[in-house]
Amino acid sequence: ELHYQPQINLATGQVDAVEALARWHDPDRGDVPPVEFIEVAERTDLIHPLTRHVLRTAIDQAARWQQAGQPLRVAVNISARNLTEPDLVQSIGRLLDAQGLPPTLLEIELTETTIMANPTLATSVIARLRDMGIRIAIDDFGTGHSSLAYLTTLAVDELKIDRSFVHTMTTDPTAETIVRAIVDLGRNLHLDVVAEGIETTATEHALHQMGCTYGQGYLFSRPVPAPALSQWLA
Ligand code: C2E
Ligand code: CA
Ligand code: CA
Repeated sequence: ELHYQPQINLATGQVDAVEALARWHDPDRGDVPPVEFIEVAERTDLIHPLTRHVLRTAIDQAARWQQAGQPLRVAVNISARNLTEPDLVQSIGRLLDAQGLPPTLLEIELTETTIMANPTLATSVIARLRDMGIRIAIDDFGTGHSSLAYLTTLAVDELKIDRSFVHTMTTDPTAETIVRAIVDLGRNLHLDVVAEGIETTATEHALHQMGCTYGQGYLFSRPVPAPALSQWLA
């Protein structure tokens, strides 16, 4: 199933977007953490049907929210292996058409590591998705051991600061400096910046002061099923 976690505009408190996160409840094993089953799926071809299912479910849910008069952009995580699917972009287009969802209400999150695994392919897939009007976020920004040069050729909309920096920024001056540098980088490149893993109001305030646009984290809401998210918003 999918759970959804809100992204909060730190200046206004408004919620325009949510991230869709896969959940697997196994009758014998209980809740299997996504890092475990995603990793197995990535090593096998199962990542293809899994991503397809996540995209279909998330797009369907976004269309429901829109029809209910509460449009929310939904962000979906895409793995490196998915980029090699020749019909990935077309199939996303077909799913949007089938649900009548405007492409601007879909966002695709790719990690820096995924992009660097095949920069040429990633650049072309990202360009085609953006041409359709879909937003692109670079996930886990700052952890990919990569040169910043790729930002000059890659057209993206958003940087997501990895939660390892956000988590420690109020106690570790180095982490704070890194977060501030990413916020400034994003602002100067006219990109939205999302800080993930906000657990305390102290962190929220520090990020707001730095000019970070959006925040995501347990402080606001854990990832929850769609009906619980609608309730939380109300
Ligand atoms: P991610 O894309 O970086 O997702 C954010 C993770 O941070 C989520 O973990 C979320 O529950 C967690 N998180 C959010 N706020 C907080 C907070 O305040 N504190 C802490 N400690 N954690 C917070 P989750 O759901 O366990 O997912 C882990 C990873 O699994 C994701 O990291 C993503 O890489 C992968 N994943 C999840 N769903 C999918 C999917 O549908 N497709 C793919 N390809 N990967 C997925
Ligand atoms: Ca993500
Ligand atoms: Ca992340």
